[in-house]
Amino acid sequence: MQTRRDFIKNLGMALPAISLAELLLSSCRPEKNPGTDKKTIGIIGAGVSGLHAALLLNQYGRYHIEILEASDQIGGRVQSSEYAFNTCNIELGAGKIYGRNSWYDIVKPYGAELIPFNSPSSYVIDSELRSSIELGGESDYTFMMQKFNSMNSFIPTADMTIGQYISFSEVPERVRFIFEQKTEEYIGTNVDRASIKANKNEGIDKILEQKYGPGNTSFSRTIRDFYTPILPLVRNNTPVSVIDYSEDKVKVTDVSGMTRSYDKLVITVPLSILKLKSHQPHSIRFIPELPEAKFEAMDHLGMDAGVKVFLKLNARFWHANSKTIYSDGKYGKFEIISENHLTNTYVLSASYFGKFAEEYLNNKSDQEIIDDIRKEWRSSIGLAASDSITGYKVENWSKNPYIQGSFSYHKLGSGLQYREELARQVSDKLFFAGEATNCDHKSGTVNGAIDTAVRVAEEVRRYL
Ligand SMILES: Cc1cc2nc3c(=O)[nH]c(=O)nc-3n(C[C@H](O)[C@H](O)[C@H](O)COP(=O)(O)OP(=O)(O)OC[C@H]3O[C@@H](n4cnc5c(N)ncnc54)[C@H](O)[C@@H]3O)c2cc1C
Repeated sequence: MQTRRDFIKNLGMALPAISLAELLLSSCRPEKNPGTDKKTIGIIGAGVSGLHAALLLNQYGRYHIEILEASDQIGGRVQSSEYAFNTCNIELGAGKIYGRNSWYDIVKPYGAELIPFNSPSSYVIDSELRSSIELGGESDYTFMMQKFNSMNSFIPTADMTIGQYISFSEVPERVRFIFEQKTEEYIGTNVDRASIKANKNEGIDKILEQKYGPGNTSFSRTIRDFYTPILPLVRNNTPVSVIDYSEDKVKVTDVSGMTRSYDKLVITVPLSILKLKSHQPHSIRFIPELPEAKFEAMDHLGMDAGVKVFLKLNARFWHANSKTIYSDGKYGKFEIISENHLTNTYVLSASYFGKFAEEYLNNKSDQEIIDDIRKEWRSSIGLAASDSITGYKVENWSKNPYIQGSFSYHKLGSGLQYREELARQVSDKLFFAGEATNCDHKSGTVNGAIDTAVRVAEEVRRYL
């Protein structure tokens, strides 16, 4: 049996954000009729924020907790495909840990691995393949990199998009694609949609963080192992369609028509789902309607389409040691995530967000996307590169009915106050967590989602 000392020691290791002194105090308080008078907490969504909130609240032993998850999986936007292409694990959603944070602390015991920073890249530019060293001597490239690196310290008088900043900085057109491709992965949309001011300490900050990957394991396995104690609380295949908080208890109805009642409800569904109008499929209807301020907050935040493409190749066409390939085409940046020179097996990954994903990729089948990449490589790099593709996998997060996009970002004119509004509890009964509600500049990340779970668990405890 776990002793009180073991319990506190484990918490200290696994949950650094919770105060040990507070836990010691709370565990000394007498429980009111344990077992018979337990308060009930419903949690909607079994992504990391929902799982983490459940883990924290469950440790008090005073509440009945249920996690209602629409899909048949756990982890939400953290999903791995294990031993993909019979070669390696691939991360279909979140693939990197940005710095040493709450997510890093969870993954570390399972084998977090440093991803080389500033590693050499290969560039397909002016229809020629160049290495970082070759390009490094060019004034256009060095000027572009200088503007890229100083983006976070730029103070605009009026808000502008990152795209406008690139134009304003007079980055030469022929190297603009490198700037755009280096940025879009971190803001989750194209540069023309995101505010430079509001994303400054959020998405843009991630660019400079040290990055880590899952090492020998996968993020999905880590989630299964770390959250094992609360997995029995998850009710999969339970999409919530109505939340009625007009009375004392919150009544939650799922698509099968079953209604459950809770004292408090934690809502962790993605911003894209919260934004859906009640007539749209997979929307959630609130009774009464959420306060107007929440809608205003949601209008200022975006969550755009996101598609990840993985390719298996049987030949290398980029420079040895390069970890990234940038090319001036539609399909732009590819990261080399696995290489085996003995078997000539290489796995590449690319992420596409915003307009291109929304207006172009969403209208194509997986096979059409791969044929398109082959065609593009044939004309830009050559036939050998095009013919080297022997396998592929496409993960389109916009087509996932319960996610419908990638991660949240600030639109032009947005600011932190809108995330604060989104995070605000309603009627002492509805509590909001999930990456979009992160008010510590960590939105759009796994660690940011976990941190909102710590906040929400504390809020719920205070109100119960
Ligand atoms: C392509 C991509 C790449 C990314 N890369 C990174 C990265 O490298 N590093 C990083 O830190 N972060 C990255 N992120 C962001 C990160 O994945 C998210 O910020 C984080 O996982 C969000 O966790 P969450 O708990 O807030 O939401 P989610 O993980 O979205 O969990 C919400 C859950 O709610 C469920 N749900 C939805 N509707 C309902 C309903 N009606 N009823 C019941 N359940 C419902 C969903 O099925 C889902 O399981 C990436 C995301 C994407 C999509």
